Amino acid sequence: DPVLALSGVTKTYNKGLPGAVEVLRGAELSIAPGEVVALVAPSGAGKSTLLHIAGLLDTPDEGAVRICGRDMTGMSDRKRTAARREDIGFIYQFHHLLPEFTALENVVLPQLANGVNRGEAVTRAADLLARVGVGGRADHRPAALSGGEQQRVAFCRALANEPALLLADEPTGNLDPGTADHVFETLMELVRATGMAALIATHNMELAARMDRVLRMDNGVLTEG
Ligand code: ADP
Ligand code: ADP
Repeated sequence: DPVLALSGVTKTYNKGLPGAVEVLRGAELSIAPGEVVALVAPSGAGKSTLLHIAGLLDTPDEGAVRICGRDMTGMSDRKRTAARREDIGFIYQFHHLLPEFTALENVVLPQLANGVNRGEAVTRAADLLARVGVGGRADHRPAALSGGEQQRVAFCRALANEPALLLADEPTGNLDPGTADHVFETLMELVRATGMAALIATHNMELAARMDRVLRMDNGVLTEG
């Protein structure tokens, strides 16, 4: 089974109103385990909408969303939340770390929410932080970390529950080009090492070219290449 499959997905904001915006028109997409796919589109083309639908944060008007072979269409909010917690990791342009908690705690908390015991969660968080080169910063709060370090911690948080699917919206868009390149390499190493599927929205064509496939969004339709 593909990790993520969208078929015939449509989405219109303000449907039936004068300000209606048709953002997705029959979007088709399939991502296999281990595949890293770039999503390239200009601002306003609907990247965030697509990522929110794929991540079960929003629902399409029509069409199906399947995660690991399970059709999520029509599922209850409770089941969608459970699937999101277990199967999906999110990374945003701005890290959204909890400012009052340390780097380690930011990676521990989503595991506790997923039922992992504290000892195991701490061990796994420390291991992940070390792997991305911020092990020495585990006891610092986000404000004491550089932008690149904060984003590495956000990667660890997204991967803490070993999701099958990683969704990222401009994961290095807030960093200077040199740092972005280095942090992107770290992300790719982590993704490759875990074998998860990833859909990564970016404006950066040079980064997109380093992924397995590039998808473009044009007038609400997804095209390959
Ligand atoms: P991107 O992430 O590519 O910048 P978005 O998915 O955020 O694009 O938005 C696509 C289009 O849908 C834009 O024209 C945006 O203004 C519109 N849009 C996004 N969210 C809403 C909303 N909640 N209500 C109405 N229009 C929206
Ligand atoms: P933008 O793409 O507009 O720069 P962000 O990258 O900050 O915005 O976030 C992308 C989208 O994800 C926003 O629509 C935001 O509301 C949503 N979002 C941010 N953090 C979370 C979260 N922890 N859980 C769910 N949705 C979130």
